[in-house]
Amino acid sequence: SRQIQLTSYPEGLPTLDNFELVETELQSPGENEFLVQNEWLSVDPYMRGRMREGESYVKPFQIGEPMEGACVGKVVESRHPQYSEGDYVLGNQGWRDAWLSEGTGVMKVDPEAVPLQAYLSILGMTGMTAYVGLLKIGELKEGDRVFVSAASGAVGSIVCQIAKIHGCFVVGSAGSKQKIDWLKEKADIDAAFNYKEVDDVSARLKELAPEGIDLYFDNVGGDHLQAALDNLNDFGRIVSCGMISTYNDKSPQPGPDNLFKIISRRLRMQGFIVRDHDDIREEFQIRMTEWIQAGKMHWEETVTTGLEKTPQAFIDLFHGSKMGKAIVKVSE
Ligand code: NDP
Repeated sequence: SRQIQLTSYPEGLPTLDNFELVETELQSPGENEFLVQNEWLSVDPYMRGRMREGESYVKPFQIGEPMEGACVGKVVESRHPQYSEGDYVLGNQGWRDAWLSEGTGVMKVDPEAVPLQAYLSILGMTGMTAYVGLLKIGELKEGDRVFVSAASGAVGSIVCQIAKIHGCFVVGSAGSKQKIDWLKEKADIDAAFNYKEVDDVSARLKELAPEGIDLYFDNVGGDHLQAALDNLNDFGRIVSCGMISTYNDKSPQPGPDNLFKIISRRLRMQGFIVRDHDDIREEFQIRMTEWIQAGKMHWEETVTTGLEKTPQAFIDLFHGSKMGKAIVKVSE
């Protein structure tokens, strides 16, 4: 089988040289094992955090080992009592075309309910991140004025729509005209701007949300966080989900110079990691499925075809060239 291994840790932006496609021999399943043929893989910004030595919130990827990540595949051979040929499963053995499992960390998924790759986006980790971050960490309230960065992305696009379902006023920022059009027309948010075309994110946010904001869902950090701090109302909340603008920094950027707003405006800022919230996975799946079936959710996917193109699909996350969730279809 084929797999993509990490050959070196990137310095700054990852490049194709950091990865290598390797052929390996895969055994047939032993007793209590099954063999999965991957169909869809996920590439995610958090993976960049695992491509360096030292502590992050997940252990680093190892040089010379296959990359990992969420994937959906079909059981093609089984000697396991609970998994049969033809079952579809969600696992964490991405970046390869096949894998053996004893069932640990694997969940069966229903290929009839939604297109299979939705288990990597809206019904998977990124949809759940939006749900947990906004409702549980952000304690979203009806009528809140919400600002979302990377608003057309896998997490951001779902955050925007959950906030709209709750009757909120929503402003989003994203990096292209196509993304801004999508946010206004499909996600139906109240205002959106292309941060690449403004000199002053804070001033633009003030124009679009003259009454201020109550909640900032941060995917980006940097100048967006600074702008949010400038515009948050008393008792506002910041949900720190990600800081993608810093992931490829070779040395740390200066922090916001307006942190005193946290005190003067009595703000609350809280980070979270989605995998700590498995207790609400079932609730999330039920409610999200209801919203999808009621036609209340739109989501985009950018599909790259071919396992060998996975590194490029991953690198593109940092160039903003993909709409919605970036996923890889393993083969034609
Ligand atoms: P996205 O689908 O949003 O893809 C990344 C997007 O980020 C790009 O498309 C690009 O869009 C934007 N971006 C890239 N570089 C910059 C930059 N320098 N400044 C501003 N925007 C930039 O990814 P996800 O939805 O998967 O992830 C969004 C965030 O959520 C990330 O920060 C990620 O780390 C975080 N996350 C956190 C989790 C948690 O448990 N806390 C779980 C999952 C994700 P554009 O064209 O708009 O610039």
